[in-house]
Amino acid sequence: MNDLYGRAALVTGGSRGIGEAVALRLARDGADVALTHRDSEESALQVAEKIKGLGRRALVVRADSADPAAVRAAVDAAAAEFGRLDILVNNAGIGVLGPIGEIAAEDVDRTLYVNVRAPFLACQAALAHMGEGGRMITIGSCVAERVAFPGASLYATGKAALTGLTKALARELGPRGITANLVHPGPIDTGMNPADGPGAEYQSGLTALGRYGRPEEIAATVAHLAGAQGRYITGASIAVDGGLTA
Ligand code: NDP
Repeated sequence: MNDLYGRAALVTGGSRGIGEAVALRLARDGADVALTHRDSEESALQVAEKIKGLGRRALVVRADSADPAAVRAAVDAAAAEFGRLDILVNNAGIGVLGPIGEIAAEDVDRTLYVNVRAPFLACQAALAHMGEGGRMITIGSCVAERVAFPGASLYATGKAALTGLTKALARELGPRGITANLVHPGPIDTGMNPADGPGAEYQSGLTALGRYGRPEEIAATVAHLAGAQGRYITGASIAVDGGLTA
């Protein structure tokens, strides 16, 4: 499958978890891929080696999504490296959970900076490089549609905001032939939410399929949206959640 051959992508938070799976899938489908990380440099470099092993070009950029200048610089660096930018995947995210009365203002800022402001700024910066056929894909969460357990007020606030951003972008960028979509994962087995973690059995039980998803199952939908077959999908929020929101 070389659907994305000749295309260039940037995946934020591509050093592990869902972002790693997305980066590798886009490369497998033919794209050159840049990825950002904050702490996991070694892991990011290993992902880049795998991308190169697939015959594609790779770029690793250390960029804290909480830093606006770093977010913009990462987008520009990807476009400069590959000479174009066709696909932006806003994946980097953090989850701060807890009763609303115990959430510190600093956590509110940090979470909204990384989970909301960074995707906004990355889309803004990507516009300078994207043309007809461009794709903006953001990883949201099923909590934007159904908050199935207490303690998610901050996380859900940020993820729900991405729906507004995605719909507005779809309207604004449609005339330029650029699509914008949101993918809402359910419980996915990653460092953020391991399938053998304390709340895992409960989360599995919330899904219709009765199990956690794998990062590759999110990557498959991202690849569809990024490829030619996804060209008529825009402004959509697509659940890949094992039926958690059914
Ligand atoms: P992980 O914690 O496994 O990986 C997070 C990735 O984001 C890492 O690559 C990490 O980089 C990067 N990242 C985190 N903070 C920053 C930052 N400030 N600046 C730059 N990069 C950062 O998470 P997942 O793979 O599980 O999550 C990916 C996305 O999917 C997130 O947006 C999350 O909210 C969403 N999601 C996940 C679900 C799940 O069940 N796993 C469910 C629903 C949504 P580094 O390695 O350097 O720290």
